[in-house]
Amino acid sequence: MRRNTITVLVDNQAREGLLSEHGFALWIEAGGERILFDTGQSEGVLEHNAGALGIDLAQADKLVLSHGHYDHTGGLPLVLRKNRNIQVYCHPTILRPRYSIKQTEVKSVQIPFQSVVALNELPKQQIHWLRNGSLLNSAIKASGPIPRRTKYETPGGSFFLDPAGKQRDKIEDDLALWLRTRGGLVVCAGCAHAGLINTLRQALQHNRDLKIHTIIGGFHLGNADQNRLQRTFDAIDQMGFERIVPCHCTGERATALLRERFGQRISSGKAGNTYRFRP
Ligand SMILES: [Zn+2]
Ligand SMILES: [Zn+2]
Repeated sequence: MRRNTITVLVDNQAREGLLSEHGFALWIEAGGERILFDTGQSEGVLEHNAGALGIDLAQADKLVLSHGHYDHTGGLPLVLRKNRNIQVYCHPTILRPRYSIKQTEVKSVQIPFQSVVALNELPKQQIHWLRNGSLLNSAIKASGPIPRRTKYETPGGSFFLDPAGKQRDKIEDDLALWLRTRGGLVVCAGCAHAGLINTLRQALQHNRDLKIHTIIGGFHLGNADQNRLQRTFDAIDQMGFERIVPCHCTGERATALLRERFGQRISSGKAGNTYRFRP
């Protein structure tokens, strides 16, 4: 039987012997392929954790970038150095300058310069600019841009396209992956800037024959108010699921509240955790 696994490679938390950072990357084996979803913030953490977990980045068939924030794209040069044949999938606006502005503090949060250089050096036939969803193989699909339908969900922070804070960044490049497994859909989010519920609804709409099995990723609920959390949890409850693995930017409070409401079905994500699914 083909393997169908997801391993958390980089996360804000890590198992013993692994490194943690504010960043995210998943290693997915599905549909007979190895797919890297995001690359973490730094080359060092990605390289260390991959080595410690016996994961060979040179063996990846595909790399999907969830969006153009630095904490998901920093390990990109390492991946492209180690793997000359990898196919890269991402939205074209991943390259744009972007900022997070809190009161007077302006922070550049865009894809690092070295990662842009590495992408530019990639042969054109190896880069796939996703303006729509794309089937990566028989088991796994990249969502492409996710329609923003809910009223209570926002990108989850003070994100702007200019350092003066005039133009809001809706982070339209944000995309998710979903795997079709015998147990149901496995939805992987990078930061879920499109909104977790928008993301899940998009996955269900494209897979009307399946229910959600697992939701894994960063849900970016650190700044969410009580109303958004309540409505998000109600919507998840209504859709139904077997397991949620909150990672990366989900936020401690949101994770604690998820556990309070859904108990054992919440499993804390950290680098080194592997989840298996029946193909
Ligand atoms: Zn982000
Ligand atoms: Zn992030």
